[in-house]
Amino acid sequence: MPPRHTIAHAVTATGTALHAGVSVTMTCAPAPSGHGIVFRRADLKADIPALYSHVEETRLGTVLERGDVKVGVVEHLMAACAGLEIDDLLVTLDGPEPPILDGDALSYLTLLEGAGMAEQGEARTAIQVLRPVTVESGDAKAALLPDDRLSYSYELSFPVIGEQTYAFAFTRAGFKAEIAPARTFGFLKELDALNRMNLAKGASLANTLALDDSGVVNREQQRFADEFVRHKILDAIGDMALAGAPLIARFEGRKSGHATNNALLRALFADPANYRRVAA
Ligand SMILES: [Zn+2]
Repeated sequence: MPPRHTIAHAVTATGTALHAGVSVTMTCAPAPSGHGIVFRRADLKADIPALYSHVEETRLGTVLERGDVKVGVVEHLMAACAGLEIDDLLVTLDGPEPPILDGDALSYLTLLEGAGMAEQGEARTAIQVLRPVTVESGDAKAALLPDDRLSYSYELSFPVIGEQTYAFAFTRAGFKAEIAPARTFGFLKELDALNRMNLAKGASLANTLALDDSGVVNREQQRFADEFVRHKILDAIGDMALAGAPLIARFEGRKSGHATNNALLRALFADPANYRRVAA
C-alpha cells in the first residue's frame, strides 16, 4: 500500500495575489501524517483546512472560509498537491491568497518538487465513488462516476475560444506535462468591472491568458492551442483535492466551474452510500 506523503523541507515563494493585487509570501512546510493540507493565515493567526466544507465563495476562484478568515484562489496550489500526491502540508501565507506565480500549477509543482517528497508512516487512503453523482446548474454540469481509476474529461464553450474538449487519465507525469502548465485565462472587457469590485487586481499579461474579441492578446504566453480546456481540468483537479483524499472516479465536466465543482463534492459526501474509503 502506498504511504501518505508530505514534503522533505520547507520552501518559500513570494509573488502577487491574483485578486487582491498585494504581494504575498507563501511557505509550504512538512506536516505530520494525517494532518492533511492546511492553510495558515500568519497575519491573522488562523488556520483553515483545505476541505470542500470550508468553501463559501466560488465566483472567481475557490475561497476557503472559517469565521472571518478567508484564503482565496487555492485551486491551482491544490491541483499541484494532487498532481504530486501530497497528502499532508502546512501552507503559511502572510496575505489573503497564495501568490498566483505564473497563473498555472506548474510553478507550484516545481517549487514543491524542489522541496523533495517525504514518505509518512501511514498508508494513503482514497475515496472510491460507488454511485454516479451529478450536479447541474443552467447549462453547466459536473459528474463523478464510478470507475477503476481517476480520470477527468471536460467540454468547454466560450465566445472567441469556441469549443474545446479534453480527456485526461491521471498520472503524476501526465499531470506535469499536460495539465500543470495550462494558464488561467480571462476576458479583457471584464477586467475594468472586476477591478472596480477589487477582483483580478493582480492579473497581468504574465500570469493570465487575456482574450479580446479577436482571440488571445498575449499569444506569446500560450503553451497549448487547447490551453483553456486543460486549465478547466486543472481547476477541477484542484477543487476535487478539497475532498481531503484522492478520488477513485471519473470526473466529467461541461461548462462547469468552481461552484459546480464544490456542489459536486457536497452532493458526494451528503450520502454515505455514494462512496467508501479504500487503500489508495
Ligand atoms: Zn484556475
